[in-house]
Amino acid sequence: MNAALLATAPDRTCRSPARPVTLAPARPGDLPVVIGGPAPVVIGGPCAVEGEEQILRLARAVAAAGGRVFRGGAFKPRTSPYSFQGLGAEGLELLRAVRQETGLLVCTEALDLDCLDAVAEVADVVQIGSRNMDNPTLLKRAGAAGKPVLLKRGFAATLDELLLAAEYVLAHATAGTEVILCERGIRTFCDHSRNTLDLHAVLRLRARTALPILVDPSHAAGLADDVVPLGRAALALGADGLIVEVHDRPHEALSDGPQAISPAAYAALVADAPALAGWARRGA
Ligand code: PEP
Ligand code: MN
Repeated sequence: MNAALLATAPDRTCRSPARPVTLAPARPGDLPVVIGGPAPVVIGGPCAVEGEEQILRLARAVAAAGGRVFRGGAFKPRTSPYSFQGLGAEGLELLRAVRQETGLLVCTEALDLDCLDAVAEVADVVQIGSRNMDNPTLLKRAGAAGKPVLLKRGFAATLDELLLAAEYVLAHATAGTEVILCERGIRTFCDHSRNTLDLHAVLRLRARTALPILVDPSHAAGLADDVVPLGRAALALGADGLIVEVHDRPHEALSDGPQAISPAAYAALVADAPALAGWARRGA
């Protein structure tokens, strides 16, 4: 991998200078959602789709808070094979229902090649998770699926590696393929957080790529109390938006309850986001 090439001639490696990414609305008459435009986009929803009642309840809460894009995993990459693995295909059908009933767009993870086509059929944004950032076969197939891809940084990946993973997707792009990068925390010696949110990456990625950049403070912090302040800091640094986990009954959540913020906290983040956008870089 040639870091110098990436650093000095991004046009030689980045096939998509296009920014922003525009997502068509779920319902006729609604406005499109623009990621990488002037207004930040704050994606919200639970870690996992847990059932019909739970997912529709949380989707309504996210819509009521002003969210436009809903997150929720149907296929979950869990550390332990004994933990809840997601509802799979049934979860995807529930996300389809969310989209129809609320008009929210849907972002959900394609965990492997087996589920990719089914995920791409339902999702407005196909998430490739941290554990799969260096899975070239999945990246190529995700590019060919023709949907925008939210590419999460591997938890031990450099920015060169993240940008080259984006290239794998873009090198196999078909009509409709886009890439949105996502910083979600890296593994360090720190034991006060689940991961260490690399906020500096927002500035360095911004300097090197035209791709939109989102930040996931939830999987970085691992702690609900710190998600909103870290998310605000990311917006102030010029992130194009956030992806955060939201749950109204975190103690009942089947995954990642301790890092889920309440619908009220999510609403506050959505409301504050436009004023924070790029605040820390003003005049710099
Ligand atoms: C997630 O967003 O649910 C997730 C598992 O994230 P990551 O791949 O960043 O761990
Ligand atoms: Mn999670």
